[in-house]
Amino acid sequence: MNDKCPVCGGTIREDTIRHPQEYEGRIVIIENMPVLICDQCGKILLRPETLDRIQKLVWSKSEPERTESIPVYDLAI
Ligand SMILES: [Zn+2]
Repeated sequence: MNDKCPVCGGTIREDTIRHPQEYEGRIVIIENMPVLICDQCGKILLRPETLDRIQKLVWSKSEPERTESIPVYDLAI
């Protein structure tokens, strides 16, 4: 694994984040998503296999771990 940031050349470290993702007009939240984060510019990189896993989980409409209600704010009002 190349552990230099493609944007700034900074050092990349592994982490897990909570990631909101829009899917068919709804927000789903992916917890404990493994990512690579640049220490310098904060760029978040995903391994291709992580994307695969997200697609399998979300796109297959499998039962979520739990459901949370999400507050929505509208700047058009
Ligand atoms: Zn960077």
